[in-house]
Amino acid sequence: MAVYQVVTMPNEILRNKALPIKNINSGTLRLLDNMRDTLYAFDGVGLAAPQIGVSKRIIVIDTGDNYIELLNPEIISREGEQTGSEGCLSVPGIVGLVTRNNKVTVKGLNREGQEVVYEAEKLLARVFQHEIDHLDGIVFTDRASETQREPANRRKKA
Ligand code: ZN
Repeated sequence: MAVYQVVTMPNEILRNKALPIKNINSGTLRLLDNMRDTLYAFDGVGLAAPQIGVSKRIIVIDTGDNYIELLNPEIISREGEQTGSEGCLSVPGIVGLVTRNNKVTVKGLNREGQEVVYEAEKLLARVFQHEIDHLDGIVFTDRASETQREPANRRKKA
């Protein structure tokens, strides 16, 4: 088990466009395992590779239903709207209201290199959009209509 340090704003890497994974090798698999360990160590709902200082298109998510890891994720369809509170492991102490699509279909590769498709709604859809934003150098505060200091009862972050 290895837990990475999470990089925080204003670290430059959080503003870069992350590079696609071209081939999956042992280093990629180790990275995936360590991202999972890091996600759980910080009690997060999602984590994108740039958040641990690696500018590659990889995300891991667990909103409580099941664990998802995805390479080169891409949103292929969007529907509806939802507005809700978000926090981010890379923006400690801040929460904000963000409007996102209520449903998204996300395509990517699993660790075997097979194409997988997820149809997500509500919280899972929100976390997919939050994490894929990280791969494009976008942080939730860029999209938030208002931000505030995090209340004492801390929520899960992405
Ligand atoms: Zn985040």
